Amino acid sequence: MQTELIWIDREHMSLHIHKMEQAGKILRGGGLVAFPTETVYGLGADALNEEAARKIYEAKGRPSDNPLIVHIADPEALDGIVESVPEKAAALAAAFWPGPLTMIFHKKECVPYGTTGGLSTVAVRMPSDEIARELIRQGGGYVAAPSANVSGRPSPTTAQHVYEDMAGRIPMILDGGPVPIGLESTIVDLTGERPVILRPGYITLDMVRSVTGEVEVDQGLIAEDSSVRPKAPGMKYRHYAPKADLQIVEGPMEQVISYINEQCAAPGKTGVICTEETREHYHAGDVKCIGSRRDELSIASHLFAILREFDEDQVDRIYSESFDTPGIGQAVMNRLLKAAGHRKIDVS
Ligand code: AMP
Ligand code: MG
Repeated sequence: MQTELIWIDREHMSLHIHKMEQAGKILRGGGLVAFPTETVYGLGADALNEEAARKIYEAKGRPSDNPLIVHIADPEALDGIVESVPEKAAALAAAFWPGPLTMIFHKKECVPYGTTGGLSTVAVRMPSDEIARELIRQGGGYVAAPSANVSGRPSPTTAQHVYEDMAGRIPMILDGGPVPIGLESTIVDLTGERPVILRPGYITLDMVRSVTGEVEVDQGLIAEDSSVRPKAPGMKYRHYAPKADLQIVEGPMEQVISYINEQCAAPGKTGVICTEETREHYHAGDVKCIGSRRDELSIASHLFAILREFDEDQVDRIYSESFDTPGIGQAVMNRLLKAAGHRKIDVS
């Protein structure tokens, strides 16, 4: 299959309406289209068409028990696919939609189990990206879209990343440039008495709490004990695994730097993930600067691209500083720990 990569200028969407219509037609015909969102690139299919959803699993090599998030373009679309909208969900939607927040509801019958991985609940998000929303409208209003990477690889933050993984597997990729956030959406389950965070993201625990009051965090996310199963089926898989062994190094910065410099002296090719503030202190290895500690979002938005670069550079092992900041740092560390298979060392 030939994969068409189409540039869409978001400032002048009307110039590309013909291409957007073409993309919508592919979706309505049961095909796949990759597209930008503010979090990461998504791989879209008609969420109400079981056969189309199946194609997503096939293209990604995704385990079939890992449910898909359904994307909508307008808040009114929510009622079409969920049994009811609890008050707290309506408040969260008013506060954070369109945006990087996914909510779990009881599904209506029209949502096939092929989309929800066999669950009677459905995850829904209304993205803010204008290309995404136009595509969703053109595609029939309900677009199931996981991240557009091959399962197990870092999520794509540019159309080029999507092309690397999906060329030959899907007919079309819409290129809207690099995404602004770079980590997947925050997932909040609203089917129980209290909201529960199933996956951390740009919308932090405090932001959710400021709208809903009491919030819980899924034990499967925070427990050191890996026998505690996360409630979001996808969170149990080791995602974002770079080809090299990755280890996170924690402790006072001076000790972290000296430990990593020592490791770089060992034979083999070593990768280092550091920040603008520490860059000058590393003298060996394949050193990549992820962003600035003064700008948390810069760290989030570069993480996946850096993991992909290390794959290209064919390093043997990677050492990363820790980025445990109070805001989006929680989501960054969740992804980094998964990429590291939870290997971290404290050098204090
Ligand atoms: P991705 O689309 O690749 O960002 O992955 C979607 C994430 O949402 C996975 O971790 C899924 O397990 C989770 N998810 C989707 N639907 C549900 C649901 N109904 N209940 C719990 N988690 C869900
Ligand atoms: Mg994913």
